[in-house]
Amino acid sequence: MHATVEPWPGRLEEAPAHVTLVGPTRTHWAAARHRLRWGGEHPFYSSILHSKAAVIRAHWTQERQGRARVQPRTQTMMDEIGLPAKLTLGQAFAAIDSAPWRTKLANFARMTAMGIARTGRRLGLTDTRCLLCKQHGSCDSVLHIYNCCANTAAVRDWTRRALQLLADWQPPADGMAAFLVYGASRATPVTTALRGVAIETIRAARASRIQAAKSDPPVDAPVPTALEHWKKMTSLLRSYISHEWNVAQEADDDGSIRAFETRWGAVVTPADAALSFSMEAIAPQPS
Ligand SMILES: [Zn+2]
Repeated sequence: MHATVEPWPGRLEEAPAHVTLVGPTRTHWAAARHRLRWGGEHPFYSSILHSKAAVIRAHWTQERQGRARVQPRTQTMMDEIGLPAKLTLGQAFAAIDSAPWRTKLANFARMTAMGIARTGRRLGLTDTRCLLCKQHGSCDSVLHIYNCCANTAAVRDWTRRALQLLADWQPPADGMAAFLVYGASRATPVTTALRGVAIETIRAARASRIQAAKSDPPVDAPVPTALEHWKKMTSLLRSYISHEWNVAQEADDDGSIRAFETRWGAVVTPADAALSFSMEAIAPQPS
């Protein structure tokens, strides 16, 4: 046993005559000082600390104990946005990892779900109002950008219509941010494609605003109009569908072609080797 000096916490005249120290102090005592009993009022067994070799070892090796914990920023984002029903955080990240998105888009989606996307103060700008609507009192946060921003209303509207038409589903009234950040519990290739289109449209619109605000001197870049959002989204979806068409063509079997037509038949008609798009079926082009 190693001798240890511990100051008596009370008044000197009240100090006990005897002190009982329980357990192998050499390895345990510093990590469990509550086991030091002043006087003799505590029975021996109440002072025994139940532990496992792994827990004791972890004091020295810094091994992680217990269940995995969510990082604080990720938890903050989850508290703010709310996970969609029947979806776990693990499933949300797995969906981002397996989505057929460009690297830039997948990285942005992953950082957003992790709660470390560059928004608000993290951009290093003095003005932390929303970059897109610039409304007084607006805040450049994920919840605002995806759920409330007046500028991205056109993106939300188009995404809802597209989901309804092509997937016969849409997120709850206030659930667009949850869908864009975490996905849906019953995600399909169609919902994943449309989610990617919406995120990429907003990401690109913000990226150009960030660049303008950071240039020296700052430039007041115009915000995208509803028409520009519409053009961006339809163009992204067209290129996504065209890519799927090429894959289906290369597979060269009836099943792949049929699956393609079931998925995208409402907005595209294969005409010989080319594709004939009718994107107005989702939403008419804004004037
Ligand atoms: Zn805004």
